[in-house]
Amino acid sequence: MNMNETGSLLPELSPQYDPWDPIRSYRKYGKHVLTSVELTITNLCNMRCEHCAVGDSLTMSEGPRLPLDMVLRKLDQVEHLETISLTGGEPSYHMKTVKDYMLPILKYARERGVRTQINSNLTLDLARYELLAPYLDVMHISFNYLNAQDFHQVGFVNASHPISYETAARMYERMVENTIALSIGGLYVSAESMINTRTFDKLPGIHRLIEEMGCRRHEVHPMYPSSFASHLPMVTLPQLRASIHRLLDERNKDMWMLFGTLPFFACNDQADDLALIRRLREEPNVTVRNDPDGRNRLNISTFTGDVYVTDFANEPPLGNVHDDDLDTIFARWENNPLNLRVNCFCSEAACCGPNLLVADSYYKDVDFKNRQAII
Ligand code: SF4
Repeated sequence: MNMNETGSLLPELSPQYDPWDPIRSYRKYGKHVLTSVELTITNLCNMRCEHCAVGDSLTMSEGPRLPLDMVLRKLDQVEHLETISLTGGEPSYHMKTVKDYMLPILKYARERGVRTQINSNLTLDLARYELLAPYLDVMHISFNYLNAQDFHQVGFVNASHPISYETAARMYERMVENTIALSIGGLYVSAESMINTRTFDKLPGIHRLIEEMGCRRHEVHPMYPSSFASHLPMVTLPQLRASIHRLLDERNKDMWMLFGTLPFFACNDQADDLALIRRLREEPNVTVRNDPDGRNRLNISTFTGDVYVTDFANEPPLGNVHDDDLDTIFARWENNPLNLRVNCFCSEAACCGPNLLVADSYYKDVDFKNRQAII
């Protein structure tokens, strides 16, 4: 059965068509507009990964959500909405949330022609994911492992009690089986790996497993020091460049490989950076996505209604859906001093500037607003 058989006639997601990339709407409207909304569906999760970008927000219990009709109304008011992402925690943690909250949002999006993504660890029973699959464009998973041992080492570091290897191995197997089953069923599964000190020399092997599971896309992002990851060592820029080159050497060139939040810019005068940027442009089926955070996306807590520019909430909320519509809240970001620091744009390089975490991690003293792409 093709699980996407109810899909509408929207264009296929491809390296040429990535509606999450803010450069598309920037080019269309001549400025950044709100096209992407991310809803934090839950702060519950059955894992506690070492690197979790929202780890500090995870809880053991949670209160009521915003009423569904209010969420749908707020989405309806977003004039240029193109994508909705549902994130957590593990958004599918409770079956009731899957049926009563997530499914209606996905159905709304499908009817409106808006593309959807769920960020999941896929470690729960297959049935709940199969319910969502017919209405979903992208099932996004994190995959940073060569085997169950890796998964055990990384996935429960911040758990309140030790998790046995046997328990972790069962979850790993279920994640792999679910990914294979959903892929065979026709769902577009995109697996994201992060480049950090654990993974930077393992990426080709991780890539092969992702391919074997039937995933359609492999996303690769460097890890940045946010939330649970804030104390972890960062890879150096030379390590990062080397690991990307090696992955490009060994990857399946037929699979879409999407890089994001890379700290390499066409305005750098470093020969190594420019060589890598050229290679990324020339490789078949490789894209470098401009980061939606702080460009075309807002994140909403479905508990408080608070609205953030990122899902990891390092910055205070920009507003609340109880007080304003989302386009109004987004307009506030335009003149926010944080945005004005990094909102450069070089059309010829297809670059919308660094995300704030990237700028803070590797370019603390650089004024991007005074730079220009040189290739
Ligand atoms: S948009 Fe900003 S970061 Fe990108 S190449 Fe231009 S100046 Fe550099």
